[in-house]
Amino acid sequence: MSENIKINLEETERENERFHRFSLISWWDQERLKNAKVLVIGAGALGNEILKNLALLGIGNVLIADLDKIENSNLSRSILYRAEDNGQSKAATAAARVKEIYPDMNIHFFDGNVIYDLGAGVYHWADVVLGGLDNREARLSINRNCWRVNKPWIDGAIESIDGVARVFDPNKHLDGPCYECTMSENDWKLLNKRRSCNLLTRDEMQGGKTPTTPTISSVIAGIQCQETVKLIHGLETIAGKGFNFNGLSCNSYLIEYTQNEDCMSHDPPQDIISLQKRTDEMTVAGLQTLAKEALGEGTELELGRDILEKLVCLSCGHEENVFTSLGNVRLSQGICPQCGKDREVKTFYTIRGDVPFADKTLAEIGVPKFDIVWARNGVTLIGFEFNGDAAEVLGSLYRPTKE
Ligand SMILES: [Zn+2]
Ligand SMILES: [Zn+2]
Repeated sequence: MSENIKINLEETERENERFHRFSLISWWDQERLKNAKVLVIGAGALGNEILKNLALLGIGNVLIADLDKIENSNLSRSILYRAEDNGQSKAATAAARVKEIYPDMNIHFFDGNVIYDLGAGVYHWADVVLGGLDNREARLSINRNCWRVNKPWIDGAIESIDGVARVFDPNKHLDGPCYECTMSENDWKLLNKRRSCNLLTRDEMQGGKTPTTPTISSVIAGIQCQETVKLIHGLETIAGKGFNFNGLSCNSYLIEYTQNEDCMSHDPPQDIISLQKRTDEMTVAGLQTLAKEALGEGTELELGRDILEKLVCLSCGHEENVFTSLGNVRLSQGICPQCGKDREVKTFYTIRGDVPFADKTLAEIGVPKFDIVWARNGVTLIGFEFNGDAAEVLGSLYRPTKE
C-alpha cells in the first residue's frame, strides 16, 4: 500500500468515527455536508452559535463576514472568543477558532461592511446563506442578493430571551415571500429613519445594542443550522415561514408569511455572465458597452448599493467628488472644510447614458471586489460577475471554474 493511500484511508477512518452518530440517522449524508458551501453573515452572539454548529456538523466550506471588533461585552455570548481577543477582528478570530473545532473545515473570512464592501459573487458562490445580524438594512441587502442569485437564506433574530428563525427560499417558492415582504410599515419607518441621515458610519451601524443571552442565541442558531442541514439534504424546510420562540412561556409557533405584491425584490435575472476580470480592470464605459451588446440600446447598469458621488455644501457651494461606497464615509466628512456647515450627500445606484465618470474603473467608483453589476433593459435583467476577484475574496475556498 502506498503511503498516500494509507494516509487517505486513515483520514476517512477518522472522519467516519467523528461523524458516526450522525450516520445512524437514516437520511443523513455526511458527504453532502462536507461539500456544502455556507456563507455566514455576522459573527456576534448568533454567528458564534451558528459557526460552532456548522463546525460540529462537519460543514466543509464556510465564509464568515463581519466588520466588528471583539469587545469584552461579547464574551458572555460568544463561545469562540476569549478575553485576550479584545480588539481583534470578529471574523478573523471566529474563523481561526472554528478551525480548532473542525480542522478539516475550509474556512475563510471577510472583515468588512457586508452591505457596502462585500461583492454579490459570494452569494452566488454559496449554497445557503445564514444571517446573524441585528439590523434591517443588512437583512434587506442579504435578501436582495439572495433573491437575485437564487439562493436560500435563513435569518435569525433575537431579543431578550425571545427569538425567530425564518427561511426564505427563492428556489422553492418563486411566488413565495421574501424577507422584504415580511417588513411592516414600522420596519420601513425605522429603516428610513436610519437612512435619512445617509452618512451611515461604522459607529452608527454598531449603535443598536439589543439585549440578548447565550441561551436564546443557542435556540435560534440551532433551528437555523438544522434548517440548513435539511436544505443541504433537499428535505422540506420551513421556507416561507418563521419559527417564533417565546422564552418566558416556552411557547413556539410557526408564522406563515405571504408575498407582498408590491415587493421590489422578486425580479430574477435571466442570466449571470461570468467575466474573468477584476472590478479594477473594467471601466464604467467598458461595462456599458458589454451591457449594450447584450441587451441593446437604452440598457442601464444597476449597482448593488448606493455609491457616494459627491459631497455638496449648500451654504458656500463647495463640492467634492468622492466616489466610494457609503460604508466608507465617515460622519466627519459631512462637514464642509470651507465653511464648517453640514454638506449634502449625492448618491446613485443606476448608471445610464453618458456619465462624467465613464473612464473610471468600477473599483474606482466604489464597486467592491467579486461583485455582480446588473444590466437592465425594461423587464430584462442580467448580471455581470467579476470573477477575476474571486480567488482573492474566497481565499482557500476558491476553486477555479472549469471552462
Ligand atoms: Zn418580497
Ligand atoms: Zn461650505
